[in-house]
Amino acid sequence: QFPFGRRLPCDIYWHGVSFHDNNIFSGQVNKFPGMMETVRKITLSRAMRTMQDLFPLEYNFYPRSWILPEELPLFVAEVRMMKDSNPSWKPTFIVKPDGGCQGDGIYLIKDPSDIRLTGSIQSRPAVVQEYICKPLLVDKLKFDIRLYVLLKSLEPLEIYIAKDGLSRFCTEPYQEPTLKNLHQVFMHLTNYSLNIHSGNFIHSDSVNTGSKRTFSSILCRLSSRGADVKKLWSDIISLVIKTIIALTPELKVYYQSDIPAGKPGPTCFQILGFDILLMKNLKPMLLEVNANPSMRIEHEQELSPGVFENVPSPVDEEVKVAVIRDTLRLVDPQKKKRKDTQFIYLYFYLSPLFLFKTVMRGMKDKQHKHLSLKLSLKLKFYLKLGLCHSLEQVPGAREGLLDAGPAARPEPDARRNPEAALPSLCLKQVFPKYAKQFSYLRLVDRVAALFIRFLGVKGTTKLGPTGFRTFIRNCKLSNSNFSMAAVDILYIDITRRWNNMGIDHKESRMCLQAFVEAFFCLAQKKYKSLPLHEQVASLIEFCECHLAALHGKRLVWGCG
Ligand code: ADP
Repeated sequence: QFPFGRRLPCDIYWHGVSFHDNNIFSGQVNKFPGMMETVRKITLSRAMRTMQDLFPLEYNFYPRSWILPEELPLFVAEVRMMKDSNPSWKPTFIVKPDGGCQGDGIYLIKDPSDIRLTGSIQSRPAVVQEYICKPLLVDKLKFDIRLYVLLKSLEPLEIYIAKDGLSRFCTEPYQEPTLKNLHQVFMHLTNYSLNIHSGNFIHSDSVNTGSKRTFSSILCRLSSRGADVKKLWSDIISLVIKTIIALTPELKVYYQSDIPAGKPGPTCFQILGFDILLMKNLKPMLLEVNANPSMRIEHEQELSPGVFENVPSPVDEEVKVAVIRDTLRLVDPQKKKRKDTQFIYLYFYLSPLFLFKTVMRGMKDKQHKHLSLKLSLKLKFYLKLGLCHSLEQVPGAREGLLDAGPAARPEPDARRNPEAALPSLCLKQVFPKYAKQFSYLRLVDRVAALFIRFLGVKGTTKLGPTGFRTFIRNCKLSNSNFSMAAVDILYIDITRRWNNMGIDHKESRMCLQAFVEAFFCLAQKKYKSLPLHEQVASLIEFCECHLAALHGKRLVWGCG
């Protein structure tokens, strides 16, 4: 551990909470810049809302949500309208403070007027969400699923899902919410940190009993009841991919700000915890994404009242050790080098093959007592470049060494390929594997690319008025119906509203979400009759086309 930083470069940096060190110039860091901010309850709900506006059916796995306090009037009005149109609708809502975790400050309400306005709501923003009243029950108990997802790379997008996860159980039998049971947290909230304090919490050394089980044990149970487990997995995979697609635009803005393109810097990866609730009909619903999922493999046990002790938890160990081990295997720098070596093999065989053959012939002639001088020079060269790690990795050297006698013999297979001794990977690649199915959803990613292009100053995440004007001009979006004065008004109106919602009221420049809103506005103006996602897609193409033409012209002028 290096609490004050470290001067020598590392292959992998394992940061505790978030990406924080700007003095890392190489290697890989286990956190993305801005991930904590991006998955906070409010930011996640906003990102999901944008996707729900574009693709309502594809994103119906996230409960309808409103942001408090600013959307309180909207929440009240929408609920009233829905109740008027369907008097039999008796909804329940769950209020969750932004930035809260472990069930902290969460409560259920039946009516918008029950929101606790006194005290914290003004100072502590929150999300109010439709409560999923009919969850799938096992042993009459509500439970949720914690799945581990590895975001291995942002550009190109690479996502892995762990084949097993955890199921965390409530400790009181579930009943649909009524005014009487709304406050019973052990019945409605599945948080481990809450239920551990219930007298009914069951610690178990088995993975398929107790208050915390493996997800695979639940799947077995469902499968024996005749449930379509394959379809459930495919729905979960699609939920994870779609959620990450919703998060990537914001992450890319943070990434270019902390690790500007063209400058030396690390690459990033991150293990995320997805909290998913299964509905009675087996539809998975996303509850939240955790940037710092707990990797503890022990649990607390109460020995006597108020006296706790940490004891090993086999369920946690089974799932979490595999996730960390396989993450390290996937980001293993040696693996990358091994890949590079394959390239060298290829190159070596194709081009200086004749040289190699000559060297080997020379060695044979000397009865293979020693490696020939030429070959050993070549080996030294490869070793220096870091393109191979031992003599055996250079083609022909192995044979040469075998013949050179027992002392020089190569290591057994397991040392040459350490992976051979490990269990098969628990992390399954889902992106780019299923990229084709989901690429049409990546519209906001392209809007973010336009935003980043006009940011101008490196290291910033906000667009100034000049950048916005340049965007409008370069993309030829201004005309007699939409003057540059109207452009300025649009910029000021939207930016001011977004900045009033945020923490930093003094900020006067435009954030990504404000730009996305302005972009949707422009798209609706230009392509009136189309559905929103087609309007946005058309405007993106229009902009990209003009920018490509401009780039072409610049190249020609440059040549001239
Ligand atoms: P926290 O970060 O505080 O754990 P969550 O969003 O995970 O907040 O919510 C805590 C718990 O509340 C969840 O584990 C789940 O049991 C329950 N919960 C959250 N949202 C909903 C919802 N929309 N419908 C039903 N239950 C929910």
